[in-house]
Amino acid sequence: MPPAAGRPGPAGGADRARSRGKADGAPAPSPAVPRVGFVSLGCPKALVDSERILTQLRAEGYTISPDYAGSDMVIVNTCGFIDAAVEESLDAIGEALAENGKVIVTGCLGAKGSVVRDNFPNLLAVTGPHATDEVMQAVHEHLPRPHDPFSDLVPPQGIRLTPRHYAYVKISEGCNHRCTFCIIPSMRGDLVSRPVGDVLQEAENLVRAGVKELLVISQDTSAYGVDVKYRTGFWGGRPVRTRMTELVQAMSSLGAWVRLHYVYPYPHVDEVIPLMAEGKVLPYLDVPFQHASPRILKLMKRPASAENNLARIRAWREACPELTIRSTFIAGFPGETEAEFEQLLEFLEEAQLDRVGCFAYSPVEGAAANALPDPVPDEVREERQARFMEVQARISAARLARKVGTTVRVLVDSAEGTRAIGRSAADAPEIDGRVHVSRVRGAKPGDFIDVKVTRSDEHDLHGSRVGD
Ligand code: SF4
Repeated sequence: MPPAAGRPGPAGGADRARSRGKADGAPAPSPAVPRVGFVSLGCPKALVDSERILTQLRAEGYTISPDYAGSDMVIVNTCGFIDAAVEESLDAIGEALAENGKVIVTGCLGAKGSVVRDNFPNLLAVTGPHATDEVMQAVHEHLPRPHDPFSDLVPPQGIRLTPRHYAYVKISEGCNHRCTFCIIPSMRGDLVSRPVGDVLQEAENLVRAGVKELLVISQDTSAYGVDVKYRTGFWGGRPVRTRMTELVQAMSSLGAWVRLHYVYPYPHVDEVIPLMAEGKVLPYLDVPFQHASPRILKLMKRPASAENNLARIRAWREACPELTIRSTFIAGFPGETEAEFEQLLEFLEEAQLDRVGCFAYSPVEGAAANALPDPVPDEVREERQARFMEVQARISAARLARKVGTTVRVLVDSAEGTRAIGRSAADAPEIDGRVHVSRVRGAKPGDFIDVKVTRSDEHDLHGSRVGD
């Protein structure tokens, strides 16, 4: 049976149309163009999945082949609903393997435990339904994309605005929360997580291109995968759940620094702390607490506002003493009383956070918080922000001073003569401090060096390279 012929599916129709075109004298596809056969089974949802995959294949320049013999590989979109459908799907896979040998299986049967793998251990890849990205990833792996004179000028890691040795990896777009001071959800919509296989492939490409530090970003990193019910995706043929812990664990296998931003203090965040203690993920958490008063947090509608953040911070530090915590806060939120602001200062003293930013509340147009009663006058907001920063500056400086005499690993950002500037695990680019290194020879951006810390100031560390 040729791909798509005799079975319901879009490829059959499209291919028949193309065959007629060829008979009318249209040029045959160049032999260099990779050809994919497609068998589509199942319900209309499966049909839509097939259409998406076929569209993507065509958009990337692959040709859809009408027969097994003329295909470089075959994709079988399966159904797993009732026994008869399972049987039909297994037959189709067996036939494709016998006739062609290079087969990717997608669709509902692919998600049904190990039925497919148990019957056919020599498939190129198996994915579940609604998995265009994973299927395309498998296609790229086994049948490289045809040359495109436009897009091939773009390197596999994409065009980056960051230096060559670090890169941001965005894992999702949008946000399911509705913090009253924020208008991001109204602009970007609800959370949409990127397929885990795509994210990991991007990270792999970046590391191959020389990136030494991957900065994981999103609006709410800890919510990664909630929208897709943490479904299992595939990376390099291995299953990986669409979930923060599993994602960063897989990312850590690439050998680059992995740094987490915008993590909310949900209980499941506790799971990544052991990865930090083991050195797999940088012991660094960027957690935007925003306030400490339960009433203000409720008015802000903050995620995880009911969590006991101080207890959580204590537990994190017990499990990973070298953990650096960065956070941001808002002073002068509508309705904030002097007592509530002082509660925030007390929290700071107790929490002993390493890096902190504080903004005086600013009424963003369209934000729900603007309608809250008792706005705090401008000058009081500013004054509270200044008081906040004064307290935190002392705490940050004291925490940095504790590092004097220790040796820290530093990723070099710039170097000139015998001096270099870099960052330790405690310093994210652009927002945190830096490590100024003297008496260093031959270091270049992207190098890791060990630095003995001899001095600290309010934001930065100073030291010299160990061994130089
Ligand atoms: S501030 Fe709140 S609503 Fe805005 S992006 Fe962050 S979590 Fe979402």
